[in-house]
Amino acid sequence: MADVLKRVPVREQEPQVRAKNFDEVCLGYNAEEAVEEAQRCIGCKNAKCVQGCPVSINIPGFIAHVKEGNFEEAYKVIGESSALPAICGRVCPQESQCEGQCIRGKKGDPVSIGKLERFVADWARENNIKPVGAEEKNGKKVAVIGSGPAGLTCAGDLAKLGYDVTIFEALHKAGGVLVYGIPEFRLPKDGVVQPEIENVKALGVKIETDVVIGKSVTIDELMEEEGFDAVFIGSGAGLPKFMGIPGEQANGVFSANEYLTRNNLMKAFDESYDTQIAAGTKVAVVGGGNVAMDAARTALRLGAEVHIIYRRSEEELPARVEEVHHAKEEGIIFDLLTNPTEILADENGWVKGIKCVKMELGEPDASGRRRPVEVAGSEFEIEVDTVIMSLGTSPNPLISSTTKGLEINKRKCIVASEECGATSKEGVYAGGDAVTGAATVILAMGAGKAAAKGIHEYLLNK
Ligand SMILES: Cc1cc2nc3c(=O)[nH]c(=O)nc-3n(C[C@H](O)[C@H](O)[C@H](O)COP(=O)(O)OP(=O)(O)OC[C@H]3O[C@@H](n4cnc5c(N)ncnc54)[C@H](O)[C@@H]3O)c2cc1C
Ligand code: SF4
Repeated sequence: MADVLKRVPVREQEPQVRAKNFDEVCLGYNAEEAVEEAQRCIGCKNAKCVQGCPVSINIPGFIAHVKEGNFEEAYKVIGESSALPAICGRVCPQESQCEGQCIRGKKGDPVSIGKLERFVADWARENNIKPVGAEEKNGKKVAVIGSGPAGLTCAGDLAKLGYDVTIFEALHKAGGVLVYGIPEFRLPKDGVVQPEIENVKALGVKIETDVVIGKSVTIDELMEEEGFDAVFIGSGAGLPKFMGIPGEQANGVFSANEYLTRNNLMKAFDESYDTQIAAGTKVAVVGGGNVAMDAARTALRLGAEVHIIYRRSEEELPARVEEVHHAKEEGIIFDLLTNPTEILADENGWVKGIKCVKMELGEPDASGRRRPVEVAGSEFEIEVDTVIMSLGTSPNPLISSTTKGLEINKRKCIVASEECGATSKEGVYAGGDAVTGAATVILAMGAGKAAAKGIHEYLLNK
């Protein structure tokens, strides 16, 4: 008899093997394992896990079907709330959301809700089960800007309500961070992301790529000349931040966004493509978030020795615990309580090292975390040929600067209602990273959902 306090372990590629390939690290549950793990759910009446889910998936409801081996019904239950379950099952921070609230977690391991969601979504894909669209169109047109999780969710929900929805995407491929940011080894593109985008298209959503709103066409033109009744902005937060230290202009300094985009979208890891990057043999990644872990683990797979340089201690690392654990297992070196002060370049302008200073933790700052303070006289150098800056991103100002009457805040984020996504401009709604700054897939999806509801109510009353 299995120990009900322990979750059914999930199979993963061995660290030494996966450190040299871009295949998915986590292999997920098979049907037998999923049914066994589902038995651990006690089907709480007032389920705390649902309260922890930003899109309120009926978790006990779908797990009850998994227990019975009725995976198609389980998929339908998830589909009532989420259009991207195979993605969320892989990248959502479940430990701080649904699983963080699971009653089973009080005495043992919480139910592996994310792995069960992933299993159900993968099963549905492999068995060609598709979500169902609206039977009739209502004749109203909505434009969605950006094809990340916020845009895809908003578009899918509106299409289900009968709207004629077109997504405009600046890049040549739809998916936002799901395709250009999160690496293949955590989220396979052709196998997982593309089929979920196809599901949204199957609801009737059109996607036009290579259209930069604010350059190719403005929001005002979409509404005044192209006949769109409402617009949703889900343009994300893709503008990288830098430290402003000497040497940051040297060759071999990347933003994490560029490094990951070149690898994911331009397939730099695949030698058959002619879009390779100078990936580096000794790489410093500055920052401690999920994006830093992704950049570091990508550089490792491209053959480099990789150092994470982070100014606080391990306890304050903002990345998910699972990501830090995987990075360590694979051999990433963590230089903690360390802060860069200068990037050193050779006579040809290429990076040859990074000058750092040791830090110690002082009193808590405004974020509640202990403030890192420099240790006097502790400067030292690390020899590296590539530096990847992973210090966060902010929304690109292109849309706000070309749209009359659209209010933004000090952080250049679009001001929008949390309940319904309404902005300061009539008929224009917004959500996801463009409003909150860099956050998570599920929060972007939640905002896309709320805005779809807001747009529907607005257009019903118009
Ligand atoms: C490397 C990396 C790893 C991450 N890992 C995780 C994780 O593990 N778990 C998690 O929950 N979150 C993770 N995140 C965060 C998460 O991916 C984002 O919060 C989420 O994708 C935001 O969704 P969005 O739809 O608001 O924006 P995005 O996904 O950024 O999509 C915005 C889209 O809009 C397009 N666009 C921008 N401007 C225009 C324009 N003017 N005209 C037309 N199109 C435009 C962009 O090209 C893009 O495709 C990660 C982020 C990064 C960068
Ligand atoms: S809180 Fe945990 S045990 Fe209760 S319904 Fe949710 S997943 Fe099942």
